[in-house]
Amino acid sequence: MKPIIFSDFDGTISQVDVTDLVLTQLAHPSWREVEQEWSRGQIGSRECLERQMALVDASAKELNALVDSVPLDPHFAAFYQWAGRRKFPLYVLSDGFDLIIRRVLKNTGFGGSLKNGKQLFSSALKIRGRRVETSFPYAGPPCQHDCATCKVEVIRRVRNSASPVVFIGDGLSDRFAAQAADVVFAKRQLLSYCRENDIACQPFETFAEIEDQMEAMAQESVVGEIPRPREPRLKTRKLKMEVAV
Ligand SMILES: [Mg+2]
Ligand SMILES: [Zn+2]
Repeated sequence: MKPIIFSDFDGTISQVDVTDLVLTQLAHPSWREVEQEWSRGQIGSRECLERQMALVDASAKELNALVDSVPLDPHFAAFYQWAGRRKFPLYVLSDGFDLIIRRVLKNTGFGGSLKNGKQLFSSALKIRGRRVETSFPYAGPPCQHDCATCKVEVIRRVRNSASPVVFIGDGLSDRFAAQAADVVFAKRQLLSYCRENDIACQPFETFAEIEDQMEAMAQESVVGEIPRPREPRLKTRKLKMEVAV
Protein backbone atom coordinates (compact mmCIF):
# COMPACT_ATOMS: atom_id res chain seq x y z
CA MET A 1 0.00 0.00 0.00
CA LYS A 2 1.72 3.15 -1.22
CA PRO A 3 0.85 6.70 -0.21
CA ILE A 4 -0.76 8.99 -2.76
CA ILE A 5 0.76 12.46 -2.80
CA PHE A 6 -1.35 15.53 -3.54
CA SER A 7 0.31 18.93 -3.76
CA ASP A 8 -0.93 22.46 -4.09
CA PHE A 9 0.81 24.45 -6.85
CA ASP A 10 0.90 28.20 -6.12
CA GLY A 11 3.37 29.07 -3.38
CA THR A 12 4.03 25.36 -2.80
CA ILE A 13 5.57 24.03 -6.03
CA SER A 14 6.02 27.55 -7.42
CA GLN A 15 7.81 30.04 -5.21
CA VAL A 16 5.23 32.74 -5.82
CA ASP A 17 1.47 32.63 -6.22
CA VAL A 18 1.20 32.90 -10.00
CA THR A 19 -2.46 33.94 -9.98
CA ASP A 20 -1.70 36.76 -7.52
CA LEU A 21 1.20 37.81 -9.71
CA VAL A 22 -1.00 37.92 -12.82
CA LEU A 23 -3.67 39.93 -10.98
CA THR A 24 -1.16 42.33 -9.42
CA GLN A 25 0.51 43.05 -12.76
CA LEU A 26 -2.25 42.69 -15.32
CA ALA A 27 -5.67 43.23 -13.70
CA HIS A 28 -7.67 46.29 -12.70
CA PRO A 29 -6.82 47.04 -9.02
CA SER A 30 -10.39 46.32 -7.94
CA TRP A 31 -9.37 42.63 -7.89
CA ARG A 32 -8.23 43.31 -4.32
CA GLU A 33 -11.78 44.15 -3.25
CA VAL A 34 -12.90 40.74 -4.51
CA GLU A 35 -10.00 39.18 -2.58
CA GLN A 36 -11.30 40.85 0.58
CA GLU A 37 -14.72 39.26 0.09
CA TRP A 38 -12.99 35.87 -0.17
CA SER A 39 -10.82 36.52 2.90
CA ARG A 40 -13.93 37.41 4.89
CA GLY A 41 -15.55 34.14 3.82
CA GLN A 42 -18.34 35.88 1.88
CA ILE A 43 -17.54 34.09 -1.38
CA GLY A 44 -15.76 30.86 -2.34
CA SER A 45 -12.59 30.68 -4.40
CA ARG A 46 -14.52 29.84 -7.60
CA GLU A 47 -16.55 33.06 -7.60
CA CYS A 48 -13.49 34.96 -6.40
CA LEU A 49 -11.29 33.81 -9.31
CA GLU A 50 -14.04 34.12 -11.89
CA ARG A 51 -14.58 37.78 -10.99
CA GLN A 52 -10.89 38.57 -10.54
CA MET A 53 -9.76 37.05 -13.81
CA ALA A 54 -12.49 38.99 -15.63
CA LEU A 55 -10.50 42.10 -14.60
CA VAL A 56 -7.36 40.98 -16.49
CA ASP A 57 -6.47 43.13 -19.48
CA ALA A 58 -3.42 41.65 -21.22
CA SER A 59 -2.28 40.01 -24.42
CA ALA A 60 -1.13 36.39 -24.52
CA LYS A 61 2.40 37.70 -25.01
CA GLU A 62 2.24 39.84 -21.86
CA LEU A 63 0.74 37.00 -19.86
CA ASN A 64 3.37 34.52 -21.03
CA ALA A 65 6.26 36.89 -20.36
CA LEU A 66 5.06 37.31 -16.78
CA VAL A 67 4.48 33.62 -16.23
CA ASP A 68 7.95 32.83 -17.60
CA SER A 69 9.50 34.72 -14.70
CA VAL A 70 8.08 32.33 -12.09
CA PRO A 71 10.60 30.15 -10.22
CA LEU A 72 9.79 26.75 -8.73
CA ASP A 73 10.87 25.30 -5.41
CA PRO A 74 14.49 24.38 -6.25
CA HIS A 75 13.99 20.86 -4.90
CA PHE A 76 10.69 20.03 -6.59
CA ALA A 77 12.29 18.36 -9.62
CA ALA A 78 14.34 16.05 -7.39
CA PHE A 79 11.26 15.29 -5.27
CA TYR A 80 9.25 14.48 -8.38
CA GLN A 81 11.95 12.04 -9.53
CA TRP A 82 12.19 10.50 -6.08
CA ALA A 83 8.42 9.92 -5.96
CA GLY A 84 8.68 8.31 -9.41
CA ARG A 85 11.43 5.94 -8.26
CA ARG A 86 9.38 5.08 -5.18
CA LYS A 87 6.32 4.64 -7.43
CA PHE A 88 4.31 6.99 -5.21
CA PRO A 89 1.62 8.64 -7.36
CA LEU A 90 1.78 12.44 -7.30
CA TYR A 91 -1.05 14.79 -8.25
CA VAL A 92 -1.16 18.58 -8.43
CA LEU A 93 -4.35 20.21 -7.13
CA SER A 94 -4.76 23.89 -7.81
CA ASP A 95 -7.27 26.72 -7.82
CA GLY A 96 -4.89 28.24 -10.39
CA PHE A 97 -5.13 27.83 -14.17
CA ASP A 98 -4.07 24.94 -16.41
CA LEU A 99 -2.56 27.10 -19.16
CA ILE A 100 -0.34 28.91 -16.68
CA ILE A 101 0.66 25.88 -14.60
CA ARG A 102 1.54 23.84 -17.68
CA ARG A 103 3.64 26.66 -19.04
CA VAL A 104 5.54 27.05 -15.77
CA LEU A 105 6.13 23.29 -15.56
CA LYS A 106 7.21 23.08 -19.19
CA ASN A 107 9.64 25.97 -18.71
CA THR A 108 11.21 24.15 -15.82
CA GLY A 109 11.69 20.93 -17.75
CA PHE A 110 8.63 18.90 -16.82
CA GLY A 111 6.78 17.05 -19.51
CA GLY A 112 4.55 14.05 -19.78
CA SER A 113 1.70 13.33 -17.45
CA LEU A 114 2.48 16.08 -14.95
CA LYS A 115 1.53 18.74 -17.43
CA ASN A 116 -0.79 16.91 -19.81
CA GLY A 117 -3.66 16.87 -17.37
CA LYS A 118 -3.57 13.33 -16.00
CA GLN A 119 -1.85 14.42 -12.82
CA LEU A 120 -3.07 18.00 -12.80
CA PHE A 121 -6.46 19.07 -11.45
CA SER A 122 -6.94 22.82 -11.79
CA SER A 123 -9.10 25.62 -13.09
CA ALA A 124 -9.04 26.21 -16.85
CA LEU A 125 -8.15 29.30 -18.85
CA LYS A 126 -8.53 30.43 -22.43
CA ILE A 127 -7.08 33.63 -23.85
CA ARG A 128 -9.47 35.69 -25.99
CA GLY A 129 -7.66 38.75 -27.32
CA ARG A 130 -6.84 40.85 -24.24
CA ARG A 131 -9.37 39.02 -22.09
CA VAL A 132 -9.25 35.64 -20.43
CA GLU A 133 -12.07 33.16 -20.13
CA THR A 134 -12.19 30.92 -17.06
CA SER A 135 -13.90 27.63 -16.36
CA PHE A 136 -13.86 25.33 -13.37
CA PRO A 137 -14.00 21.64 -14.31
CA TYR A 138 -13.45 20.44 -10.71
CA ALA A 139 -15.91 22.78 -8.97
CA GLY A 140 -19.54 22.23 -8.13
CA PRO A 141 -21.46 19.62 -6.12
CA PRO A 142 -20.81 17.92 -3.78
CA CYS A 143 -18.45 20.80 -2.85
CA GLN A 144 -20.01 22.93 -0.14
CA HIS A 145 -17.50 25.77 -0.14
CA ASP A 146 -17.69 26.96 -3.76
CA CYS A 147 -14.07 25.93 -4.28
CA ALA A 148 -12.57 26.77 -7.70
CA THR A 149 -11.02 23.31 -7.62
CA CYS A 150 -12.54 21.19 -4.88
CA LYS A 151 -9.37 19.56 -3.59
CA VAL A 152 -11.22 17.39 -1.07
CA GLU A 153 -13.50 16.00 -3.77
CA VAL A 154 -10.61 15.28 -6.17
CA ILE A 155 -8.76 13.47 -3.37
CA ARG A 156 -11.88 11.44 -2.60
CA ARG A 157 -12.27 10.45 -6.25
CA VAL A 158 -8.61 9.69 -6.98
CA ARG A 159 -7.56 7.87 -3.83
CA ASN A 160 -7.75 4.16 -3.39
CA SER A 161 -9.60 3.87 -0.08
CA ALA A 162 -6.71 1.96 1.47
CA SER A 163 -3.95 4.36 0.41
CA PRO A 164 -2.73 6.92 2.91
CA VAL A 165 -3.10 10.44 1.55
CA VAL A 166 -0.21 12.89 1.83
CA PHE A 167 -1.14 16.53 1.26
CA ILE A 168 1.32 19.38 0.73
CA GLY A 169 0.19 22.99 0.77
CA ASP A 170 0.70 26.56 1.91
CA GLY A 171 -2.56 28.47 1.84
CA LEU A 172 -6.02 28.82 3.28
CA SER A 173 -7.60 27.27 0.20
CA ASP A 174 -5.79 24.08 1.24
CA ARG A 175 -7.52 23.83 4.61
CA PHE A 176 -10.30 21.42 3.62
CA ALA A 177 -7.82 19.10 1.87
CA ALA A 178 -5.54 19.17 4.92
CA GLN A 179 -8.44 18.01 7.08
CA ALA A 180 -9.06 15.08 4.73
CA ALA A 181 -5.41 13.94 4.48
CA ASP A 182 -3.58 11.41 6.61
CA VAL A 183 -0.23 13.21 6.54
CA VAL A 184 0.02 16.98 6.00
CA PHE A 185 3.09 19.03 5.10
CA ALA A 186 2.32 22.70 5.62
CA LYS A 187 3.88 26.12 5.44
CA ARG A 188 2.76 29.73 5.79
CA GLN A 189 -1.00 30.25 6.27
CA LEU A 190 -1.82 26.55 6.10
CA LEU A 191 0.72 25.86 8.87
CA SER A 192 -0.88 28.52 11.09
CA TYR A 193 -4.34 27.20 10.30
CA CYS A 194 -3.37 23.60 11.15
CA ARG A 195 -1.77 24.70 14.41
CA GLU A 196 -4.78 26.80 15.41
CA ASN A 197 -7.18 23.97 14.61
CA ASP A 198 -5.22 21.03 16.03
CA ILE A 199 -4.65 19.39 12.66
CA ALA A 200 -1.50 17.27 12.85
CA CYS A 201 1.06 18.51 10.32
CA GLN A 202 4.77 18.66 9.55
CA PRO A 203 6.18 22.11 8.80
CA PHE A 204 8.37 22.41 5.69
CA GLU A 205 10.19 25.04 3.69
CA THR A 206 11.25 23.10 0.59
CA PHE A 207 10.51 19.75 -1.03
CA ALA A 208 13.93 18.49 0.12
CA GLU A 209 12.56 18.26 3.69
CA ILE A 210 9.41 16.50 2.53
CA GLU A 211 11.46 13.93 0.65
CA ASP A 212 13.66 13.33 3.70
CA GLN A 213 10.69 12.96 6.04
CA MET A 214 8.70 10.73 3.70
CA GLU A 215 11.75 8.58 3.03
CA ALA A 216 12.26 8.19 6.80
CA MET A 217 8.59 7.26 7.24
CA ALA A 218 8.80 4.73 4.42
CA GLN A 219 11.98 3.19 5.87
CA GLU A 220 10.35 2.82 9.27
CA SER A 221 7.39 0.87 7.97
CA VAL A 222 7.74 -2.73 6.83
CA VAL A 223 6.11 -2.50 3.41
CA GLY A 224 7.08 1.01 2.46
CA GLU A 225 3.80 2.46 3.59
CA ILE A 226 3.45 5.73 5.42
CA PRO A 227 2.15 5.50 9.00
CA ARG A 228 -0.70 7.75 10.02
CA PRO A 229 0.46 10.11 12.76
CA ARG A 230 -2.62 12.24 13.19
CA GLU A 231 -5.52 13.31 15.34
CA PRO A 232 -8.59 11.09 15.74
CA ARG A 233 -10.92 11.26 12.74
CA LEU A 234 -13.92 12.51 14.68
CA LYS A 235 -12.13 15.60 15.82
CA THR A 236 -11.18 16.71 12.31
CA ARG A 237 -14.67 15.97 10.97
CA LYS A 238 -16.12 18.24 13.62
CA LEU A 239 -13.68 20.98 12.64
CA LYS A 240 -14.65 20.64 9.02
CA MET A 241 -18.24 21.57 9.88
CA GLU A 242 -17.15 24.54 11.97
CA VAL A 243 -15.13 26.17 9.21
CA ALA A 244 -17.72 25.59 6.51
CA VAL A 245 -18.57 28.88 4.79
MG1 LIG B 1 -0.92 27.78 -2.52
ZN1 LIG C 1 -14.82 22.16 -2.09
